[in-house]
Amino acid sequence: MLKLENVSKFYYNKGMISTGFSKVNLELKIGEFVVITGESGSGKSTLLNVISGLDSYEEGEMYIKGKETSHYSEKDFEDYRRKYIANIFQSYNLINSYTVYQNVELVLLLNGYKKHKVKQKILDIIDKVGLTKFKNTKVSKLSGGQKQRVAIARAMVKDTPIIVADEPTGNLDSESAKEVIEILKKVAKDKLVIVVTHNIEQVEEFATRIIKMHDGRIIQNTEIKKIEKEPPIIESQYNNISLANKYRLGIRNTFNILPKFLLLFAVFFFMSAAILAEYASFQMTEAEQVENGYSFGFRDLSENRILINKKDRTAFTNEEFEKIKQLSNVDYLVEDDILIDGGMPIERDDLSLYGTMKDINNFQGNLDYGRMPENDDEIVIRINKDHYYMKERFNDLLNKTFSMLKTQGNGAWSNEKVRDLIVVGIQTINEKNDYDCEFYVSKDVLKGARIDLNKNYSTMKVLLNNKYQQYTVEPNDKVESGKAIVDDEFKTQFKNNKIKGQSIKIQISNIYYEDELNLSISNTYIKSNMKRLLGTDAYDTNRYKIFINTNEYNSLFDKQSYQSSVYVKDVEKIDETMTELENLGLNPKKVTDFKISQDANYLNIIKIIKVVVTIILILVLFFISYLIIKIILKSRNIYYTTLRILGATYKNIRRILDIELFINSTLSYIVLMLFIYLVKINVINLEYIAKLSEFLTLKEYVLMYVILVVISRLISIRYSRELFKNTVMNTYKEEV
Ligand code: ADP
Ligand code: MG
Repeated sequence: MLKLENVSKFYYNKGMISTGFSKVNLELKIGEFVVITGESGSGKSTLLNVISGLDSYEEGEMYIKGKETSHYSEKDFEDYRRKYIANIFQSYNLINSYTVYQNVELVLLLNGYKKHKVKQKILDIIDKVGLTKFKNTKVSKLSGGQKQRVAIARAMVKDTPIIVADEPTGNLDSESAKEVIEILKKVAKDKLVIVVTHNIEQVEEFATRIIKMHDGRIIQNTEIKKIEKEPPIIESQYNNISLANKYRLGIRNTFNILPKFLLLFAVFFFMSAAILAEYASFQMTEAEQVENGYSFGFRDLSENRILINKKDRTAFTNEEFEKIKQLSNVDYLVEDDILIDGGMPIERDDLSLYGTMKDINNFQGNLDYGRMPENDDEIVIRINKDHYYMKERFNDLLNKTFSMLKTQGNGAWSNEKVRDLIVVGIQTINEKNDYDCEFYVSKDVLKGARIDLNKNYSTMKVLLNNKYQQYTVEPNDKVESGKAIVDDEFKTQFKNNKIKGQSIKIQISNIYYEDELNLSISNTYIKSNMKRLLGTDAYDTNRYKIFINTNEYNSLFDKQSYQSSVYVKDVEKIDETMTELENLGLNPKKVTDFKISQDANYLNIIKIIKVVVTIILILVLFFISYLIIKIILKSRNIYYTTLRILGATYKNIRRILDIELFINSTLSYIVLMLFIYLVKINVINLEYIAKLSEFLTLKEYVLMYVILVVISRLISIRYSRELFKNTVMNTYKEEV
């Protein structure tokens, strides 16, 4: 059956070469009971491992049934082991977390036997080694002798022609040792049994050959009983492990060591939680950016709003407004954009409401309190039902007088009152988190606000004596139109102090338009004539000013709007309306388009960073979890090497590990989902997590699960690959 010719085994270890055994010549037949002895380190185990195909040899030739094996691949040896070899080790090599039954069953499952078909066979063999009472006991709870009997049962159950036992009694007391040898003897019939032992006496009576080793060489090879004719060799049958059995083992392995299960569970749980949280917080930043970006330019971002101005950049006329209103899809028109997009407060006592001004003629819906306005000073307020301050006390607002304040032109307001407004009607709306109101006011109030805004957004220059100068210009009812009254000091700028009758030009400009007034200076004021000319004697606070006629002054700012907004009825048809507006000589622009393009660059950068950081995080977490899982799995190396010894291939092991990690990661993900769900429905009260979870959609949860499954697969591939980098015995020795 087996023949070794000058076979040597060397170990290369960190540049050192040591000899396992050298120049061994040996021929063994089926039916022999071979006993190998020799002092420790003489090469016995190494020889057995080479014979078993668990380790390679470097020199000479080993023949199996007459065939050379020096060219054998790992796969060939795998096949050889599965057909011919059963090993029994001094250290038992059992799966401690499995029961006796499961240990014996394992070798059959790995070799493609059907679970239900082998049940009786396993029970019989367990009975033969006298362990029926312990068949459902975990191996870790057995004594040494009992463990070795399990190992023998496992070696017997597959019925291979060769049994190799390396010091099977080495760790046993003499009583147990005797029992074990007895069982081996029974098994030996029609097989080749090779046993390493120091107790020759125990085996002497039935040994057919005794080999003695010393320093890596065979120094004695005595054939006690000659086998004349080798009986026919019956190969042990095997198949690839069935899918069902892979799953069975994968599931068994998931749960059979609780601490390992919990550790893996925690790694998967925190890995997915970290990735999800990081992604969600990016989504949150992005959403906040969108929101902030929007509100900073345009307060009203309705989909049905179109911004318009004229192509020639002049002010709208009333006829033009009428034409626009007549377009079929136009719901209403807001003449002053500046008023929609600039918010303002109205105040009374210690109560201040913030909102945007709208034309009362565009008011829609019904009032919940009060009535519609009847004069120019009465207004209607649209306010959030859940307004943080006013909710459930809207009646407090009704028929109260509020002050409209003077704007300072930079988003701030002075304390100066422009006019009084009386709230006569209230409409409440359901708008989450929106605490800004809408003030529906008369055309007259709008006009005042527009003039006020134009004043504050304009710069004014004065051309006096052919020089542009920055003087303060003020309206005054006592000044005739076409005239200006200036400080008497100004006369020094003119030849002979001749200032009366001189021309003065007042120019204003803002982003929409420019305008000018050409006046002549009718008089100059000094302290004594001020009261008569201008109706005030506050001389000290009115130095170096130019007073002009109030109506003329207002005409500089009382302009029709230069930019307006159209609101359409049907958003689906907004493009048609845009074309119609263009045909009227206007530049139409959807407010939504405008905003998105404005912040697009910034948002794109956030998006790119989000993707890059997420990928980096996934990679980093992959390696961290790989390392952690590798440490966790390290305790499993013996398990997987044992599977290998029992006939599992690389693919089998990878798949069994795959299943284990798949179940573990899926369970932890389910628990994570459950956790997030409980947070969402407020059973668990974690505000920040609840907020983050709002930024994740089903799509992202599914994607995360896919990533988790892929990661656990990659881990099992990497791990199995490392496990198979070396020969079985080297891997095993490294771990023990
Ligand atoms: P025995 O089983 O007879 O006690 P071994 O076969 O275990 O002896 O060892 C034989 C020789 O091979 C010893 O000198 C031992 O140091 C060496 N050896 C065994 N395994 C290795 C290894 N993995 N690397 C290096 N040397 C080894
Ligand atoms: Mg040994």
